[in-house]
Amino acid sequence: MSTDCLFCKIIAGEIPATVIYEDTLLLVFRDINPQAPHHFLIVPKKHIATTLDLTAEDNELVGHVYQIAGKIARDSGFAADGFRVVNNCNDAGGQTVGHIHFHLLGGRNMTWPPG
Ligand code: IMP
Repeated sequence: MSTDCLFCKIIAGEIPATVIYEDTLLLVFRDINPQAPHHFLIVPKKHIATTLDLTAEDNELVGHVYQIAGKIARDSGFAADGFRVVNNCNDAGGQTVGHIHFHLLGGRNMTWPPG
């Protein structure tokens, strides 16, 4: 855990969140500022700052993120229509929280290119 990290505090239960899924590797909760009818944050419990900080040790973790994204999309009923998984990295990538996370967005038609 990083002491000054918002998502580490949510994982530790120090800050409330609407948790919809948890296992040993991940916590998934609703984004506080949803950009789609379904907007979840899939957050590894291990404090990794950005995509650039991933190592080969994390390969299984990242694969698990995508497997759980599909499970949540199916369980929430928007898998068949389609959905998007987004990871923002660093300032120009739009990252505002320095703990790696994956946005799972569904329930509307997405546009391309993203903003
Ligand atoms: P980023 O911009 O890709 O780093 O995404 C950070 C996300 O965290 C944004 O979509 C925020 O709305 C979301 N967020 C920030 N604080 C909280 C919180 O306390 N609970 C849930 N989501 C949050």
